[in-house]
Amino acid sequence: MLTLIHNAYLYAPEDLGVCDVLVSGSTVHAVAPKIEVTLRGAGVERVDAAGRWLVPGFVDSLVHITGGGGEGGFRTRTPELRLEEAVRGGVTTLVGALGTDAVTRSLGELFAKAKALTEEGVSCFLHTGSYAVPPVTLTGSVRTDVLFVDPIIGVGELAIADHRGSQPTVSEMARIAIDARVAGMLAGKGGVVSLHVGPGHAPLNRVYDVVETTEVPITQFYPTHMTRTEEHFQAALEFVRRGGTVDFTTSTTPEILTDGEIKCSRALARAHEAGVACERITFSSDAHGSLPVFDAQGRLQGLDIGRIDSLFGEVRDAILEEGLAPPVSLATITSNPAAILGLWNKGRIAEGLDADLNLIDPQTLEICDVMARGRWLMRDRALTVASAFAEVGR
Ligand code: ZN
Repeated sequence: MLTLIHNAYLYAPEDLGVCDVLVSGSTVHAVAPKIEVTLRGAGVERVDAAGRWLVPGFVDSLVHITGGGGEGGFRTRTPELRLEEAVRGGVTTLVGALGTDAVTRSLGELFAKAKALTEEGVSCFLHTGSYAVPPVTLTGSVRTDVLFVDPIIGVGELAIADHRGSQPTVSEMARIAIDARVAGMLAGKGGVVSLHVGPGHAPLNRVYDVVETTEVPITQFYPTHMTRTEEHFQAALEFVRRGGTVDFTTSTTPEILTDGEIKCSRALARAHEAGVACERITFSSDAHGSLPVFDAQGRLQGLDIGRIDSLFGEVRDAILEEGLAPPVSLATITSNPAAILGLWNKGRIAEGLDADLNLIDPQTLEICDVMARGRWLMRDRALTVASAFAEVGR
């Protein structure tokens, strides 16, 4: 089956202007200003995409696909992500992770959910471990998990600067990083250590202790939630200047922003103005993590849930409100996360890579059509797939 997308304005994410893209099976076969396919008959689907942007399917590097939260008691455990939410958000590649709770939730459950989402049409990977040290694993060690279990591409989110973390020592962090690194090298995977960075002060100092006193390179660590305070944001800029990659969390609430968190799109604009390497900044949604709402006395008032459509929402705001160029903005959810995660066939539109594509209305920046591995999951804003049991509880 061939699909020929005509006359789209292509952000690959770099600006390639008006192009044709030919999809064959699950991959992009050709990208060129003009592509002619002489084959006749039912084997070629032709899509007129004039007046649309064509961008890579989005890569969300942190999603609590089996749910997260639970810090307010059992009833505050958040539900699983549904396929439909990812597709409406234009997300075609996800990385699932556990979080605080690796007791009532398990890696086995995470593995099964990742497999389910991949069977349903998107590409889902996962990290072994959780907030805690020593990391929980499927096969007995981080090294064998990354080496032998296909969808496992790294470890995390390991918590630092957080009262819910295990307060890992330098040698514990170095050991985990090297296990992930060596297994990643042997298996041809990223082997990155995703770090949940909590609200503590001097949040990345423990990472520098590891990098400065051992042979672990700074590129092995991938800290997230780096806009939660001005101090975190400044630490993120410094981390990028030292050669690392940082992640900003897009899901938030008005209360959290009032409390001092920096909106992702604003943070990207400030990083751009500061002249740091924006190709080492990524956004992730942290979707289905819990967003606690506290009153003035710090009492829990309610819990919100992180939404996956916040991922492109912040890119939209970066373009429309902050005036950033589409390639810089789009790269934070396409080529940049694909690079740090080692997902070399994701995050860009180019010959031979997976056909994960979104068509976007350039005026409103609404997602109109979504293709994942060569298959349409949304056409003209209407889903063309449904997860199993999608009607239950509706
Ligand atoms: Zn986290």
